[in-house]
Amino acid sequence: MVITQMSEEECRAFLASASLGRLGCARDNQPYVVPIYFAYEPDFVYALSTFGQKNEWMRANPKVCLAVDEIAGQSQWVSVVATGRYQELPEPQFTAEREHARALLEKRSRWWQIALGQRQLRVGDGLIAPLFFRIHVDALTGLRATSEPAEANKAPRE
Ligand SMILES: Cc1cc2nc3c(=O)[nH]c(=O)nc-3n(C[C@H](O)[C@H](O)[C@H](O)COP(=O)(O)OP(=O)(O)OC[C@H]3O[C@@H](n4cnc5c(N)ncnc54)[C@H](O)[C@@H]3O)c2cc1C
Repeated sequence: MVITQMSEEECRAFLASASLGRLGCARDNQPYVVPIYFAYEPDFVYALSTFGQKNEWMRANPKVCLAVDEIAGQSQWVSVVATGRYQELPEPQFTAEREHARALLEKRSRWWQIALGQRQLRVGDGLIAPLFFRIHVDALTGLRATSEPAEANKAPRE
């Protein structure tokens, strides 16, 4: 297996094609990671969310991290890590940004059902105001693993 570093351009292209990531935040030295659907375009990650612990924590400490990967096998995978800053998109200041986020996210299947389903589970209400937020991406790194051709062609030992 060979692991190579991805260029920033490759990281961006990968994020643009992905929709599920793990969002990490931290408060009082305690990390917290949850799966989340997102839509990426340079240099923002957009998401729809229900209000909860993650938002409270990101309000307190806007420094966040998003990990996204695609794993085809033990020696074939892509992993991109983005770090950046959390920003909520309330109305009316961010109406245009919210519509933009909605349009991008709508291309992802079932994105809204997951977010709202979680919230209903918790509070059992029917009227839910979606909370849009974005992450200003400050840094991107990516690693790609591929099967080493020489290793794949090696004859078995006798
Ligand atoms: C595939 C997938 C996609 C998702 N996409 C979205 C999305 O786009 N937007 C969105 O808002 N949410 C999404 N979720 C749900 C998300 O992962 C969180 O569960 C949800 O947002 C609630 O997080 P919270 O911090 O607001 O939790 P709260 O409702 O405030 O609850 C906090 C408590 O619940 C626990 N908890 C919260 N979430 C999880 C979890 N996922 N697993 C285990 N324990 C948990 C915490 O540890 C904590 O104890 C998705 C989940 C999955 C599996």
